[in-house]
Amino acid sequence: MALHELTIAQLHEGLKKKEFSATELLTDVLQRIEQVEEKIKAFVTVTEDVAREQARRVDEKIARGEEIGPLEGIPAAIKDNICTEGVLTTCSSKMLHNFVPPYDATVMRKLKAAGVVMVGKANMDEFAMGSSTENSRFFPTKNPWDMGRVPGGSSGGSAAAVAAGEAIYALGSDTGGSIRQPASFCGVVGMKPTYGRVSRYGLVAFASSLDQIGPLTKDVRDCALVLGAIAGHDPMDSTSVPHPVPDYTASLEKGIKGMRIGIPREYFGEGIDAGVKEAVKKAIATLEDLGATCEETSLPHTDYALPAYYIIAPAEASSNLARYDGVRYGYRDETAEDVVTMFMRTRSEGFGTEVKRRIMLGTYTLSSGYYDAYYLKALKVRTLIKQDFDRALEKFDLLVTPTSPTVAFRFGERAADPLQMYLSDICTISVNLAGVPAISVPCGLVDGLPVGLQFIGRPFAEETILQAAYAFEQAAGTANLKPAL
Ligand code: GLN
Repeated sequence: MALHELTIAQLHEGLKKKEFSATELLTDVLQRIEQVEEKIKAFVTVTEDVAREQARRVDEKIARGEEIGPLEGIPAAIKDNICTEGVLTTCSSKMLHNFVPPYDATVMRKLKAAGVVMVGKANMDEFAMGSSTENSRFFPTKNPWDMGRVPGGSSGGSAAAVAAGEAIYALGSDTGGSIRQPASFCGVVGMKPTYGRVSRYGLVAFASSLDQIGPLTKDVRDCALVLGAIAGHDPMDSTSVPHPVPDYTASLEKGIKGMRIGIPREYFGEGIDAGVKEAVKKAIATLEDLGATCEETSLPHTDYALPAYYIIAPAEASSNLARYDGVRYGYRDETAEDVVTMFMRTRSEGFGTEVKRRIMLGTYTLSSGYYDAYYLKALKVRTLIKQDFDRALEKFDLLVTPTSPTVAFRFGERAADPLQMYLSDICTISVNLAGVPAISVPCGLVDGLPVGLQFIGRPFAEETILQAAYAFEQAAGTANLKPAL
């Protein structure tokens, strides 16, 4: 197998045993990028120079006889809404087309300390608003399993890069499913940690009460490794929690005998594709074979998650995106003669259609006279949704659902109808509203396209989720699936 086809854990062994150098590994990944990127378009920016320098430093360390950590020398893609010092960070928006951050996001600082080799900044839906990367202001990313289909979104570039072997792992962000849904569409593993587990300092804010950064990887062990490297308290993000970070790989092999797993019936109803349902039911049978007890349960307020999210997320976005006024950084209209016209033109030209739609929705629901009827009501609904999860997770260790109601859809199939696009996240959005952690792991193929299985856990129970996902992946043989590219 070529180096770019291996997992982090496998590559780490190879580096340690000096079977190849970090530079050789990087060269293999860069060649792969050269070979497939024209078709896939996973990257806004490929950072070859940065990567070469980072790989060189790892090789020097190995040459000095020093021990290397599990992520040291491993090539990664970083979603383009995570600030990288000295490297363009665009959010796939015209508004930030020229923005070079003067600092690293905390996750980036941590990955650098862990020896990352950053190969590029991954394409996304503009400001992470979307489910297909069709909202990128630059170009859409293709699904490596079928170039006529979307990779999912908004972290579509991150997921496609990992699936196509253009990076060994990636970071994404998940506000309403943006890590898990593209992971599901591209046949990779993606995790949204508990709200507060990973610092968002340096993540360009979309909806601050929902945003989390997380890993996209080829298998569950790699996911545990990357999560361990980026999790932890950060004084720069007041929502990050000072819980100690466990070794997430330590409990992977414990199995799931005796685990109680709830199957929420609302996730198997209308709108869920028959093939997806069947694949997930087969996965549930595998979990039972492994010794878990699976039992139907209910999250009764599920129907209200989408409407609540599409009030709360745009409300927060309208406030977060007020900072893009052309004054301090990013795009500025140079033709205006006065400052108010400059603001107006900068924002009209700098933002794309979906971003403007969200800003208008959010401004409306926060305005006096509508606040109580929309925003406040949505917050109350959010509490009910959170209570659904609290109740279910009192009785069950985990909940299992499909990650997405369908497999990857075709370009253009939903782009014209925002509501159709919003429905892509019906299985992932409640998890963000409740703040709980969840993972998507591949559970098989339907018509040659990957299906994702979602495990949802208690707050800060990432270990339990990873343990179950690992047991499933081993039994089902779905680790490191590869498209015939
Ligand atoms: N697709 C959802 C949206 O458009 C979720 C996006 C995300 O998680 N960043 O808002």
